[in-house]
Amino acid sequence: MLLHDDHLERDLRLLAKFLDIYCADKHAGVEKHVATLKMHDVEAVAGRSLSLCPSCHALLAHAFTKRTNCPLEPKPACKRCSEHCYHPKYRERIREVMKYSGRTALLRGRLDYFFHLLF
Ligand SMILES: [Zn+2]
Repeated sequence: MLLHDDHLERDLRLLAKFLDIYCADKHAGVEKHVATLKMHDVEAVAGRSLSLCPSCHALLAHAFTKRTNCPLEPKPACKRCSEHCYHPKYRERIREVMKYSGRTALLRGRLDYFFHLLF
């Protein structure tokens, strides 16, 4: 699938990178596989291939689908959105990922991730 929407592409890239950081740190002992999705070329979106555990892969798939299908333009920050399109069990987890990886990226000096925060 080709992405023509810059905001969408940027958001998906951030989701992919933050999940990658989170899974590498929090699920170090869990068996991981290269992430692939039907609707997206994950490697092209993230800039490299991602290795995720099964539960983070499921979260990636859910997050990519929800973000791609978001009908609001411009998309509000999810915490201010009235739609709450995420399944509750995934919503809690993606918030945890964003919080953890956001802080980690900040500590590593990756301020470029912060011009746009999703959650
Ligand atoms: Zn994981």
